Order: sequence, then C-alpha cells, then structure tokens
Amino acid sequence: MNKSKINDRATTTEIIEIFSSLQGEGPHLGQKQIFVRFGRCNMHCHYCDELEKMAAVDKFKIYSVEALLSEINVFEKEKGQHHSVSLTGGEPLFYTPFLLNFLPKLKEQGLTTYLETNGTLPRELASVIKWCDIIAMDMKPASSSGDRDFMASHSEFLKIAIQKEVFVKIVVTPETSKNEIEQCVEVVANINPKIPFIFQPLSENIGISQKALHYIEQQLFPIASQRLVDVRVIPQMHKIWGVR
Ligand code: SF4
Repeated sequence: MNKSKINDRATTTEIIEIFSSLQGEGPHLGQKQIFVRFGRCNMHCHYCDELEKMAAVDKFKIYSVEALLSEINVFEKEKGQHHSVSLTGGEPLFYTPFLLNFLPKLKEQGLTTYLETNGTLPRELASVIKWCDIIAMDMKPASSSGDRDFMASHSEFLKIAIQKEVFVKIVVTPETSKNEIEQCVEVVANINPKIPFIFQPLSENIGISQKALHYIEQQLFPIASQRLVDVRVIPQMHKIWGVR
C-alpha cells in the first residue's frame, strides 16, 4: 500500500479505510464484518455521511489486489472470524475493473462478500455478481440524489441482484414523498415482492430523526406493506452504539 496516484484501475484501487466493526444497518445488523471503504462515488446524496472523506482524494490509500487481501487476512487473524467482508464506500462498483481481479481471489479464501451499493450501475453488477454473496442495495429517489430518480437503473440492477441474497434500503428524510415510496415499491414488487424492503429513518447527530420515524410508521409503511411481503424499519445503529 502506498499513497501514490492510481495508475492502473484493474490492479490498484483507492481506499479510504479498512476496519473491523459491526454492521450497523439492515437485516444483518450486529454481524461482525471487515469493512473495505472504497474512495469515490458516482452520486452525491445530501444526507451522505461520507462526503467529507470522499472529497479528500489526496488522503486515499492506493492498494494492489495482493496488499488488500493481505490486510483483510490480518484482520481475520487478529480480530477473529468475521461474518463477511463488506465492500462499501463510496460506491464499490465504481471500481469494477479492480473488483474483477480482487473478488475471485477473495472468494478463493472462503470469505463471504457483502456488497453495499447505491444500485445504479447494473452493467457493473452483472460483471461481478458471481463473486457477490449478499447485496445491500440502496434506492435513490430524486429527493435523495438531489437530481433525478434512478428507478430505471434500480429495476435493471435488481433483476440481476435477485440471483443472490438481496435486500433494498431507503433512507427516509423529511423530503421523501409518498409518491417516491410508491415508485420504489413498484420497482421491487415487479421483480419479487418477497425482497426485504427496509425503511431507514434519517440519522441525526445523536439518534434518529423522530419526525422521519413517525412519517414512516404512519404514512409510508402502509404503502409498502400493501404490495410487499417483508417490510421493516431498521435505523442506522453506528451512532447509537458509538462505533464506526
Ligand atoms: S450513494 Fe451512498 S456513498 Fe454515494 S453519495 Fe449517496 S449515500 Fe454517499
């Protein structure tokens, strides 16, 4: 690992941090993972808590496939067995040329891969899906992206992801509209109504937005549960637990 600039996107990548911690979101909440946080993202969500780190490109660490595998192995040895390796970010699929070399080797070591993704890059997913075990897909209505919605991409993405364990997650802010939730539900229901659909109320500095939580419980949950089998509310727990 060094801090020089990336020169070959197939053999080196940009990493913000690697660490061992507990999964703080979604149905795998509380499971122990090694987190590999990739540098950049193709989106710029207003609620993103990684924007500052993603903007500090001069602080990205450059890893080769071998160096990254080696660091993951050190965590496995020193911290004990982990449930899985979480590929997070940023957007890991932004680094697909690297993943094509890295993931087969990670799987050769018998590790479970957990892809955390914004669900907007279906072609990239198709090229690496065979090495993904669990896919945690965010859905991005226009009020999240600050731009346009990504429902067409999400639909293509889910059609590919469905061959593995997949769940979708939507961060609910006071700006999230009922119409946006209806669109998200429509996308998921058309592919498989059994795909777990997780509402995640917006996190605040301490705890979660009570306003968002009540809005979900009283108005959004009924919209989703009319068409989907497995709808849940799971807040982001990192800040409440005081872990990263
Ligand atoms: S997609 Fe995720 S990582 Fe990218 S800006 Fe949005 S919240 Fe942040």
